[in-house]
Amino acid sequence: NDFICKCLIKDFELRPNVIDLLQHPFIKQITGKEKLLPKQLIELIDLNQQTGTIEKTRPHGNTDRDGTDRHERIHTKKGNHMKNQGDSDEVEDLAALEVLDENTVTDHLQNRFERDLIYTYVGDILIAVNPFHPMDIYTAENSKMYIGVKRKENPPHIFAVADMAYQSMVTINADQCVVISGESGAGKTEGAHLLVQQLTFLGKANNQTLQEKILLVNNLVEAFGNACTVINDNSSRFGKYLEMKFTAGGTVVGAQISEYLLEKSRVIHQATGERNFHIFYYVYAGLADRKKLAHYKLSDNKTPKYLFNEHVKLGPDIVSNASYKEQFDAVEQCFKVIGFTLEELGSVYSILAAILNSGDIEFSAVVTEHQTDKSDITNVAALENVASLLCIRCDELQEALTTHCVVARGETIVRTNTVEKATVVRDAMSKALYGRLFSWIVNRINSLLRPDSGQRGENEQNLNIGILDIFGFENFKKNSFEQLCINIANEQIQFYFNQHIFAWEQDEYLNEEVDARMIEYEDNRPLLELFLQKPVGMLSLLDEESRFPQATDQTLVEKFECNLKAKSFWRPMRVDHGFGITHYAGKVTYNAAGFLAKNRDTLPADIILLLRSSENELICKLVTHPLTKTGNLAHTKGKGMNTLRSPRGTTRTVNLTKSPSLGLESCPDSKSLLDLPCDDLLHMQTSDGDTPYHPRETTNMRTQTVASYFRYSLMDLLSKMVAGQPHFVRCIKPNNDRQANNFDREKVLLQLRYTGVLETAKIRRQGYSHRILFANFIKRSVRQSCGEYV
Ligand code: ADP
Ligand code: MG
Repeated sequence: NDFICKCLIKDFELRPNVIDLLQHPFIKQITGKEKLLPKQLIELIDLNQQTGTIEKTRPHGNTDRDGTDRHERIHTKKGNHMKNQGDSDEVEDLAALEVLDENTVTDHLQNRFERDLIYTYVGDILIAVNPFHPMDIYTAENSKMYIGVKRKENPPHIFAVADMAYQSMVTINADQCVVISGESGAGKTEGAHLLVQQLTFLGKANNQTLQEKILLVNNLVEAFGNACTVINDNSSRFGKYLEMKFTAGGTVVGAQISEYLLEKSRVIHQATGERNFHIFYYVYAGLADRKKLAHYKLSDNKTPKYLFNEHVKLGPDIVSNASYKEQFDAVEQCFKVIGFTLEELGSVYSILAAILNSGDIEFSAVVTEHQTDKSDITNVAALENVASLLCIRCDELQEALTTHCVVARGETIVRTNTVEKATVVRDAMSKALYGRLFSWIVNRINSLLRPDSGQRGENEQNLNIGILDIFGFENFKKNSFEQLCINIANEQIQFYFNQHIFAWEQDEYLNEEVDARMIEYEDNRPLLELFLQKPVGMLSLLDEESRFPQATDQTLVEKFECNLKAKSFWRPMRVDHGFGITHYAGKVTYNAAGFLAKNRDTLPADIILLLRSSENELICKLVTHPLTKTGNLAHTKGKGMNTLRSPRGTTRTVNLTKSPSLGLESCPDSKSLLDLPCDDLLHMQTSDGDTPYHPRETTNMRTQTVASYFRYSLMDLLSKMVAGQPHFVRCIKPNNDRQANNFDREKVLLQLRYTGVLETAKIRRQGYSHRILFANFIKRSVRQSCGEYV
């Protein structure tokens, strides 16, 4: 059927005459009849309608997704919602601009921004410029305006993206995924909230509580995962993929959240002008408000060391902060509504308080006749506080902090820790506790919001809409391992975007033999190879070096320099341990000091064993059970095949297991997105196929480095994303000063350039954005020509 339709269309193109179509030689071959009536042709096509593909129609410039003429609609909606009718700012899709160059596009966005029109389309992609002031376009009224309405009926809006995802999920019965990208502070997290809000509204849950719970998930995890940075007061310090679960009919039935790469180092140290995770301040102020500080061994006039910085010198700065108290109440409310028990809440506060107290444990060197590397705890009170909050024995904690065991020739020898080493162990414990607490909260949310089978029906599968909100690209004065990981993740998301918008799109034209001028775009594959390739990618080299006890951060940088030959890697002058990367989004200078330690991220076995002995069930659980994350990588189980959806909705299958490196040569399908190394991933599967809760430690005692866990996380994320049909939201930051009504042209232009917005506009204009099945195309043509007979 598809083939016949295609042939019919070929002929139809030469002689666009429906009468000829009706007596096409093919028709005779199939039906034996000389000629069909229009109605019969349509019936014939309906009889065995199949998958189809691109309609050869006018280029996109003047055409909307539904095929209506852009100019028509501008006339018809006069006086509808737009101010300044007749103005060229009217154009709501960059692809429809008459002139398409950097300046025109920037001007256009600026003009719109100045009229508070922060959203603009580029084809089917939404550009959102952060207004940095509250907008009145997210009301219940607005929510209603964007339900099941053709996109052209309303001004561009993030709610329209929610609606597009929702409608396509329901109509084509397929998972969707919304990818929100942009640099730190560009508005990704706000955008994600708005999407959840609108999707919850669209998928009207049968029960009010579920709806309420889903809306609170973001608030809860962000209290633990976000912090104030120099760029953004509410900066996400982890990547978040929130999947909302729907029935086939489109009713929301649950949610699941996956977290990636929490920046744990923030617990023990914050850069100048930055703060610890929000929750510490909230809890401190909230407990003070309830006169519970003493119960949690916190003092109201002495700031815990982990919170002490140039902003906060005194405890009272925090404990009397009204906003923190309010936030504490709000977080507690989230916990309760989502379904955490009071006992669990108490444990959470104890762990947070224990972490704060740990930071205050101090060590001093003990010099004896025989030993110089011994340390002692100077403030026993802090030690006692921690032991009591963690429900462990004080003397054992002291021992675990100040000594370590080595096994030599079958014998276990106890060695003492230097002050430096003891401090490292203390901080490692704090980071581990926080990281595990965060993962536990996420897991618990997932089990509380898992759709119950009753809502699903026997054999019915849920449909998902995933929303990706990761930490944005970062370039600080000093950039460390965390920034490297964040930027690699952004590099990967950009690659995914490019694959969808450019590579697969253009392949599709080739496949369909459609003439289209090819658009040049910045391909960042070489960069991804630089980072992820095995065995000589940056992460592999880092892992290799991390295995040598004698290695230093300097030898690491030298190793990079010897092995990484790409142009995008360079060594800056006069920076110790420095190296530079030219990312898709700009040049970043990294400082490798601390890379090895951060990558090894070791938590001594003594500490793990000690925490396991805790009488507090939750603490014990954090270090004992390889709890399972639901759904993670479940679909890569088995043959290791994963199905990618191309822009058209056709699918291609990529073999995940047979791509040992990112190198193209090993991967026959050069279009595949997941040609990332995945051996880590496969090793991480436990026998029942579930991903362990803490994959870094449950793999036959093989300790995973942060780099390899990161690689695994990226894989996991991608495998989830490619399983759905993507929608993209590109957030743009109008200025570096978080100011409303300030559009810094240079700043915006740079972002438009590196995210490829201009090229996107070009491909959307020159390309064919309107796709209908061959069969539907013929039916439509027949109907148009012989309407009254059909
Ligand atoms: P990102 O997640 O990209 O780092 P955020 O979403 O946290 O950025 O946004 C940073 C700040 O910008 C927010 O705290 C808020 O003040 C402002 N902001 C972002 N999006 C909007 C919006 N749509 N309307 C109003 N203010 C916004
Ligand atoms: Mg964010």
